[in-house]
Amino acid sequence: MIFEGQIRKMISENTKPIRYYLNLKDDYLDVNQQLGKKMRFYHDHNECLGCGLDKEIYRMGYCKNCFFTLPEANDSIIRPELSTAHLGIEQRDLEWERKFELQPHIVYLAVSSDLKVGVTRSAQIPTRWIDQGASYATILAKTDNRYEAGMIEVALKNQVSDKTNYQKMLKNDVPEIDLIQQKDLFKIYIPEEESKFYLADDSVYTFEYPVLHYPEKIKSLNLAKQKEFEGTLVGIKGQYLIFEDGTVWNVRGHEGFYVKFEL
Ligand SMILES: [Zn+2]
Repeated sequence: MIFEGQIRKMISENTKPIRYYLNLKDDYLDVNQQLGKKMRFYHDHNECLGCGLDKEIYRMGYCKNCFFTLPEANDSIIRPELSTAHLGIEQRDLEWERKFELQPHIVYLAVSSDLKVGVTRSAQIPTRWIDQGASYATILAKTDNRYEAGMIEVALKNQVSDKTNYQKMLKNDVPEIDLIQQKDLFKIYIPEEESKFYLADDSVYTFEYPVLHYPEKIKSLNLAKQKEFEGTLVGIKGQYLIFEDGTVWNVRGHEGFYVKFEL
């Protein structure tokens, strides 16, 4: 059977284990059903997430032109503290930025490789954690907008990383950390103006990924260099497919590629 389409990040359902769907824009593939089976896929051409044209993908699934002009690829997407919609100041498209930035956001602590801090829209919970391959997570603060969450994250970055080591995450080399204890420790670093956003709820969310066995050595597949790949799928974690030979494919990292799959 052949499936083909523009790669977008995988869609997930927070079941035990998590269920993943490959989103090919006009086609969906239940990836869990492919576990233990052979897959072959190849890069056919590009389809930018913004303009849809067959142009070189620069970053985040966008061609260079779209990356530097669309609000979806604005600096405040990666660095929430740069948000300005709450001041009524436009960066690329104020109407879009108002909708995106002026909604409840959370600052969370999660463990995917080590302890990390992050920001996301409340509506993105638990998807954001699953996309990062988090084993467990808790909410530190809930704010009214993106800027406030960004300010808390910036204050905490001196204490804790905001990055995930994807190799450790994919090997399931995950430490046991008492998130609630960490949350108590970090409380004092929340800036005074944002301290009212601290969330007293100490729920810890845990995630179970569909992985038959974790790789010991990891080789990262880049479809821009190696046009095609064939292997047996043994796991899905974060936005990665894990194959029997230790090859891992970052699906999200290939957004904007047009790929054909033979199953
Ligand atoms: Zn484009």
